[in-house]
Amino acid sequence: MKCRCCDSTRLELVLDLGSQPWGNHFVPIGTPGDVPRHPLELFVCRDCSMAQIGHTVPKEVMFVDHQYVSGTTRSLRDHFGHVADEIVARVAFGPTDYALDVGGNDGTFLLQLQQRGANVLNVESGFRQAQLAEQAGVTTVNTFFNRESASEILASRGPAKLIHGSGIFFHLEELHSAFAGISDLLARDGFVVAEFIYLPDMIRLCAFDQIYHEHLTYYSLTSFGNLLRRHGLKIVDARRMAIHGGSCLAWITHADRPGADSDSLRAMLAEEAELKLDQPAIYADFAARAGALRDELVTLVRGLRAEGKRIHALGAPVKGSTILNYCGFDETDLECAVEINRLKVGTWVPGTRIPVWHQDEVAPPDVYLMLSWNFKDEILARLVDFRAKGGKIIIPIPTVSVV
Ligand SMILES: [Zn+2]
Repeated sequence: MKCRCCDSTRLELVLDLGSQPWGNHFVPIGTPGDVPRHPLELFVCRDCSMAQIGHTVPKEVMFVDHQYVSGTTRSLRDHFGHVADEIVARVAFGPTDYALDVGGNDGTFLLQLQQRGANVLNVESGFRQAQLAEQAGVTTVNTFFNRESASEILASRGPAKLIHGSGIFFHLEELHSAFAGISDLLARDGFVVAEFIYLPDMIRLCAFDQIYHEHLTYYSLTSFGNLLRRHGLKIVDARRMAIHGGSCLAWITHADRPGADSDSLRAMLAEEAELKLDQPAIYADFAARAGALRDELVTLVRGLRAEGKRIHALGAPVKGSTILNYCGFDETDLECAVEINRLKVGTWVPGTRIPVWHQDEVAPPDVYLMLSWNFKDEILARLVDFRAKGGKIIIPIPTVSVV
């Protein structure tokens, strides 16, 4: 096995989450057989410090026919509005300039930018998402972003003034092809805005549920910078964001563009150097905390079941599949998972026989297990009535707590 970034073979196994299905492998209830399982193991490269999983589920399996749509979460729409504000404040879009979104899903982000006067182009591999984006009025190419598709876009539309990717740059099976494509396509005075799960915060928050087969790489600014350098790009500014439970937003330019790193970037890089993210110690601690959290959650859920309490998983996000499979929960522990995304209703949570039902169509349980803990405030606000009637909610991460 070789490092996805630098080809080194000095990879160290730092966290084993067991054998797990692809976390978005929702199949209709009654589908015979079990969905396939694959190792879910986190490695760190001793040479370039890139954290990564070992096993690759082919991108054609994960990102063509899938159910994730950005527009279902209000917090995410609001967040994209703030990012769009920041972009139009820093980038002057001329009448022929355009912004490209890599894996722009249903167009939720680009709509925000379009409303602020920019021309936009979405490159999205999911056919449903591409269709939804088109219906919303966002021009979309239904394909994978790589050097080949980038060169076709360059030929037809010219260089991109802005390239945005939210929660996408760590999904890339064709890692080097995609960044070569970005480097080719980016205008000389253009910016890349990348939003990604921030490894130091993922570790700090014990957010092991961010690890799933769709996430191939887990970036610090140090390791991301190492990757970008190989493609003539550099990070010039970065800051933390609360969204998704520990994310980072980075501004990237061509490497030969003059200008100093921002203060915020320098401070974050200094912090990373102290954490020693290329050494196994920090990951050993992370793995121990993840294991302890799992044991605590299993004891809590099975204890409540022994008292006769009915428990539903609240939401069926892909990260929830990691938690449920890591804990070994099944339909004896959780009666069902409830969703508002209709595309998942009537399926089994991957790797389990826990059915997914629409939240409005089942009687509320005694206890919810909140899987989208990163949208905690929004979700708790929606559950005022449930809580007023004595309903309890388990929040699993960063520490197991009951509200
Ligand atoms: Zn490496």
